Amino acid sequence: MNIATVELFVIEMPLKSPFVTHLGAVTVREGIIVKVTDQDGCSGYGEGVAFSTPWYTEETVKTSMHMLTDLLIPLLQHNPIQHPQQAAERFRSVRRNYMAKAALETALWDLYAKNKSQPLAKLLGGERAVIASGVVIATDSIINALKQIDSYMEEGYQRFKVKINPQHDITLLKEIRRHFPEIPLMADANSSYTLQDIDRLKSLDEFQLLMIEQPLGVDDIIKHAALQKELQTPICLDESIVTFEDAKNAIDLGSCKVISIKAGRVGGLYEAKRIHDYCFQQHIPVWCGGMIEFGISRAHNIALASLPGFTIPGDISASSRFWEEDIISPEVTVKNGVVEVPTESGIGFCINEKRLNETIKAKKVFTF
Ligand SMILES: [Mg+2]
Repeated sequence: MNIATVELFVIEMPLKSPFVTHLGAVTVREGIIVKVTDQDGCSGYGEGVAFSTPWYTEETVKTSMHMLTDLLIPLLQHNPIQHPQQAAERFRSVRRNYMAKAALETALWDLYAKNKSQPLAKLLGGERAVIASGVVIATDSIINALKQIDSYMEEGYQRFKVKINPQHDITLLKEIRRHFPEIPLMADANSSYTLQDIDRLKSLDEFQLLMIEQPLGVDDIIKHAALQKELQTPICLDESIVTFEDAKNAIDLGSCKVISIKAGRVGGLYEAKRIHDYCFQQHIPVWCGGMIEFGISRAHNIALASLPGFTIPGDISASSRFWEEDIISPEVTVKNGVVEVPTESGIGFCINEKRLNETIKAKKVFTF
């Protein structure tokens, strides 16, 4: 891979409506777009999915920019790589900082696939032509949640996820089940419970949830195993799984029956695929989680979710779920509950340069 330049763009866009969890509300999304261009002028794109503040993981846009600028990009300068997997391996000399790594690694995958004239999905081993689409409802108002489910059902979404916490769970789920007894429903707790809430968590079994996502702490793989023994509802781990080893430990300990894979959370597509392959072998279903992302990360998610182990509809919604206008063209759309996997090379979407330029707050260029 003859890299000529790497460009970093810090962009910012308001959400159409606030995304509310017990950890706070996201109203404006900052993100990092990585553009890697080779000596033939071909470009690959990646997206850094850390938030402005460390509410979801320890990383932020600023820490990602520091890692990319001062450590990760220099690891590729003066020492070319032949394949994106080599970048993933080389980045191991930097501890953690998975979102910063993924921003650059995913851009390399897009470029590599374009150089091979192959769709990224196919290059990763994807088998699906379309993927089932799910949506996240993140509001602290029960009435708004019901309204949103109603309108997303009309748009054809196949799975609905609500954010819950000990102050906002039973009444919300009861109302949803009263109005929509049959919908595929799951709940994401973002670590808002402890084992002391075990009776409360057991009482959620009656709502026939597909799964409960990340009920306990990020580093509580052992307590999740104790909880899973008591719950009928499958536990899905999200924030707890940031490496292949985490996934293997969680499965071996019985801490979960489902895993949400996010390339951004695990350092990129190479590690995401390793986790997928192990889960597939162990008969643990996986799905692709969302990060309130822009179109580039969304496109990478579509490629990843085309792998055979992604048997549960993920958080891959239309661009219009969050944005008035996305930075890719065409935008991601959901028709009859599914998103088409592109057949063009790379991520299969072009950049909407006009929209991207409108959103850029800062830019850095690195010449190789
Ligand atoms: Mg989650």
